[in-house]
Amino acid sequence: HHYRWALFDRKPLDRWSDERVVLLGDAAHPMLPFMAQGAVQAIEDSYVLARLLSDADDIAVALESYFQTRIARVTRVQAAARVNMELFHHRRPQSPVWLAGKIAPTVVERQLDWLYGHDVTGS
Ligand SMILES: Cc1cc2nc3c(=O)[nH]c(=O)nc-3n(C[C@H](O)[C@H](O)[C@H](O)COP(=O)(O)OP(=O)(O)OC[C@H]3O[C@@H](n4cnc5c(N)ncnc54)[C@H](O)[C@@H]3O)c2cc1C
Repeated sequence: HHYRWALFDRKPLDRWSDERVVLLGDAAHPMLPFMAQGAVQAIEDSYVLARLLSDADDIAVALESYFQTRIARVTRVQAAARVNMELFHHRRPQSPVWLAGKIAPTVVERQLDWLYGHDVTGS
């Protein structure tokens, strides 16, 4: 059916560069769409990569540093998107998350401070 298509993510890679070829965005860390973060993380990657390359004496060191700076965060977003896939497709509409959002919305919002409170210019 041409109105349907598959959704894919991929396990975290153990490197994003090979000599002077480097990946960012979906090529480095494809994620499921349930956090709406694929483009956001690609933009964050590009900021970090550009800053490290512009300051670099050694390209290889800069590319490794880029990977080390970004991998934990994008892996966490990938994992959160997977969890949301389960939650969003829960059959019961009044799931624990829905209920918590009604009773204590700020508690639920604070759980995403690690994502939305992150300042990539400081990383
Ligand atoms: C329906 C939908 C909704 C989305 N909503 C959101 C959202 O709300 N928030 C969010 O943050 N993200 C969202 N995303 C995810 C976001 O679009 C992607 O994560 C983002 O576009 C990834 O950027 P990228 O530059 O890594 O890859 P892409 O945007 O895929 O860019 C790769 C480019 O490379 C080109 N290309 C491929 N092969 C070659 C080749 N051999 N030679 C030359 N060029 C080539 C492609 O044509 C493409 O233009 C959404 C995605 C979809 C599909």
